[in-house]
Amino acid sequence: MQILFLGCSDEHGVPRLGCRCPVCSSALVPGSRNNRTGPAMALRYGPSYADRVVLIDAAPEFRLQATRLGLDQLDAVLLTHAHDAHILGLSALVTARREAGLPLPVYAPAQVLDNVRERFGHFWTDKTYRRVVQPRPIEEAADLWGLEVKPLRVDHGLGGTAYGYQLSFGSRRLVYISDMLRATAEVRQVLTGADLLVLGTSHYYEGIELWKRSVMDITTALELIREAAPAQAILTHLSHTVDYDVVSDKLSPGISLAYDGLSVEVQE
Ligand SMILES: [Zn+2]
Ligand SMILES: [Zn+2]
Repeated sequence: MQILFLGCSDEHGVPRLGCRCPVCSSALVPGSRNNRTGPAMALRYGPSYADRVVLIDAAPEFRLQATRLGLDQLDAVLLTHAHDAHILGLSALVTARREAGLPLPVYAPAQVLDNVRERFGHFWTDKTYRRVVQPRPIEEAADLWGLEVKPLRVDHGLGGTAYGYQLSFGSRRLVYISDMLRATAEVRQVLTGADLLVLGTSHYYEGIELWKRSVMDITTALELIREAAPAQAILTHLSHTVDYDVVSDKLSPGISLAYDGLSVEVQE
């Protein structure tokens, strides 16, 4: 299975609008790993004659991400929650599917689909879009061509509720959680011993009161990773306070930072 990071920023992107901090300035240098677009990932799996591609979240920059990385085939999209950074790309994606005459199965817990419907009502009401968008509410789990997808309800702090996903393929188990402030006992159990954990962590250390926050920081994530001991962990959803080179140097083997365009192989 190939895991392709389309984007790995927090909801503001890096560089942030109007910011001249060292990380935002360095992000303007071509090739900089500090240049980050909205958080989204694609999974490519299955036998080579029947490759499947599932997108997790559609960031505002989806069109640019997909064209830059040559991602021109998609079988479904899976959504974590309906915050802008995770769904605004649906607009370009669904329009492209409509032009191509292709359907788009959209998997998410029912609550998330309801929230998407509030934002993109025309996907449900306009008949040219209704032919494209196929809402697929997930209850306990869903099978996407051999990939078992299990939603995990997570505490997104000030952001409300979001979902992460446990993704099982053959004997491999991946967990993707982009927007979580605190891990519940249930989440900790799911993370334990995963083959790959992709975890969202906006800042290295965010020293403000917990009730004002929505995503855990790297300091907390490293404690969680130590406890859960996944074979590999990748940190994503990174803000402009995280300099790729500086923070990468501090991480133990098996833990790394995502960057836009990063591709990781997990043996099937
Ligand atoms: Zn900045
Ligand atoms: Zn969010």
